[in-house]
Amino acid sequence: MPEPPDAASLREAGVELVRVSYADLHGVCRGKDVPIDAYDAVRAHGIAQTEAVMTIDLRHNVIAGFEHGFRDFWAIPEPATLVRMPGDPAVAWCLAGTRRLDGPFPLDPRYALRQAIAGLARHGLGAVVAPELEFYLVEPRTWRSYVAHDSSVYTCGPVSDPGGVVREILRTARDLGLQPIVSSQEYGRGQYEINLRHGEALESADRSFRFKAMAKEVAARHGLLATFMGQLRDDDEGSGLHLHVSCTGEDGANAFADPAAPDGLSAAARHFAAGVLAHLPALTAFLNPTVNAYRRFIVESLAPTHVNWGVDNKLAAVRVPAEGGEAARLELRTGDGTANIHLAVAAVIAAGTDGLARELALGEPVSGNPYELGDERLGPQLPKTLGAALDALAADRLLVDAIGEELCATYTMIKRYELDRWHAELARVTDWERDEYAHHL
Ligand code: GLU
Ligand code: MG
Ligand code: MG
Repeated sequence: MPEPPDAASLREAGVELVRVSYADLHGVCRGKDVPIDAYDAVRAHGIAQTEAVMTIDLRHNVIAGFEHGFRDFWAIPEPATLVRMPGDPAVAWCLAGTRRLDGPFPLDPRYALRQAIAGLARHGLGAVVAPELEFYLVEPRTWRSYVAHDSSVYTCGPVSDPGGVVREILRTARDLGLQPIVSSQEYGRGQYEINLRHGEALESADRSFRFKAMAKEVAARHGLLATFMGQLRDDDEGSGLHLHVSCTGEDGANAFADPAAPDGLSAAARHFAAGVLAHLPALTAFLNPTVNAYRRFIVESLAPTHVNWGVDNKLAAVRVPAEGGEAARLELRTGDGTANIHLAVAAVIAAGTDGLARELALGEPVSGNPYELGDERLGPQLPKTLGAALDALAADRLLVDAIGEELCATYTMIKRYELDRWHAELARVTDWERDEYAHHL
């Protein structure tokens, strides 16, 4: 491995500042810009950051941290992640690891993912992940879609991307090394999907994290908003975050593949899938972390509603793609684009690892149109609200321990506060009520 560049070599290459980023608990990209002259010191010592950054909701209300006066943690650049900003090569962008003065910083989603990866490694396996990123491009003030017609699913080019914005997102993703592999319009009006190549779990989650931040920036340059929100409109498609997961064994081969098995899955894959299904209600707290997300779980949409699996079946929560062999993998279809990718991947790995540890058996798959099977064969329902998902997480000791007690407590506090604010909103008299009752009654 070549030595990561220091300030002198970066300066020589024309870099003026290094952007040091990390994920907060929502998966929002936060951090600081470091002028190149200060970079070597920051690389050695890190940047002091208040823990308040990890205890805020999306309206920047601070929910927790008062008890210790918002002490600092340190964000330490990881030079191996450094990449020049396409279109602004004077900026180099890198991700940060974190520390508290006395040890690891347990509120860091990347730290939680590293812990989950280490847990799986104890079984001699390494997780491989590929995300499918669905998002809308909309006009931020009117919510009007970038493209108003909905007849162009699976198309690309000027009809679905008249301003070349999606193409610019795709090109920027490539130039940032995010390894996009395909891009097209999705079913919704102004909805797109870009898939990133599979890779080792942390590295892959880092790429998705950067993709979301970058897509928002590129869209903003065009006066648009890129949103990964689960259900943007009542009359349009949801935006999923399908996660493809497999594991490599110590020999580097795909440990999920068993060409002799009828569904192509090895025993390890089956245990892993059984673990994911066993923990799916609690996983939902990370995979679907907003009050809005639960509107996407609609019967007979392409988003799942029940805890089940199927081979080559897009109505199942866990789909086993038909290819098998080196491509043997699971596709978890429940997550939506608002998931914090590092936490989502960490939680899925922890659940799968539990399936391996307990050698959980995978039940019968669903097939055909599972909705014709009747409730008892569809499997248990996914949580119907964020509150129910948070309850399921609280009851799932294994997942809480794997992701970290402190992280889960803070995360839950923030999410409960969001829920309370939403309930206050629901308690207001609505236009619907006025329209329904005021005229005649
Ligand atoms: N947009 C759908 C979802 O919310 C998925 C469509 C697809 O299968 O690509 O999950
Ligand atoms: Mg899709
Ligand atoms: Mg998919």
